[in-house]
Amino acid sequence: MIVILLGAPGSGKGSISNYLKEKHGFIHISTGDLFRKTVAQDTPLANKLKQIMLSGKLVDDDTTNEVVRQELLKINNPQAHIIFDGYPRNVNQLEYLNKLTKIDYAIDVQVDKAEIMKRITGRRVCPVCKEIYNIYYKKPKVENTCDKDGSLLTQRNDDQESVVVERYKTYMSLNEPLIKACQDLKIYHTIKNDRLDNAIKQVKDICNLQ
Ligand code: ADP
Repeated sequence: MIVILLGAPGSGKGSISNYLKEKHGFIHISTGDLFRKTVAQDTPLANKLKQIMLSGKLVDDDTTNEVVRQELLKINNPQAHIIFDGYPRNVNQLEYLNKLTKIDYAIDVQVDKAEIMKRITGRRVCPVCKEIYNIYYKKPKVENTCDKDGSLLTQRNDDQESVVVERYKTYMSLNEPLIKACQDLKIYHTIKNDRLDNAIKQVKDICNLQ
């Protein structure tokens, strides 16, 4: 089963993906995570990506599509359940993925805009297991420490307010045609993510997961 998650930055795509990975054995492909790994290296590509990501703009489609193609080659299993998080981000990427593999469900994760800023600026991530926390809504048991493996939590450097505003603008400018293209493919569904447990229930209903 192939599921793609659409939705604004901070809409909870990563948390939903983590759940599907842990409880339903999905493989999680997050282009944002893949790019953050690349950026951590000291290469010319890393420096280019770092600048793009900190401007809130998108990495070019050829680079992004190639990264995804490589991930699918690594998995090399037509039966695998895969959740794409943050990809495809525009119609061009959707068309590319649709040629590589059949997409079963596109789930658009909707959250009020007012809520998004709080979610993103409060977000903290475990650099080791990728568990996502929030200093307002989902505090770790010990301040700034991952409940699962004790690692020191980090904040993404593109989660500062000025970058978030740009990321949101980029999202809004591409969202409408992407939704339309998913509707044309008859894979489009929406869910409301006011609370994570509600969102997960809706995802499970759409994908017929127990
Ligand atoms: P968010 O959706 O919360 O903004 P992501 O972790 O998905 O964050 O992405 C962080 C950054 O990585 C984006 O702002 C963009 O620069 C780049 N990126 C991630 N996915 C894509 C994609 N599919 N196409 C182009 N750029 C991407």
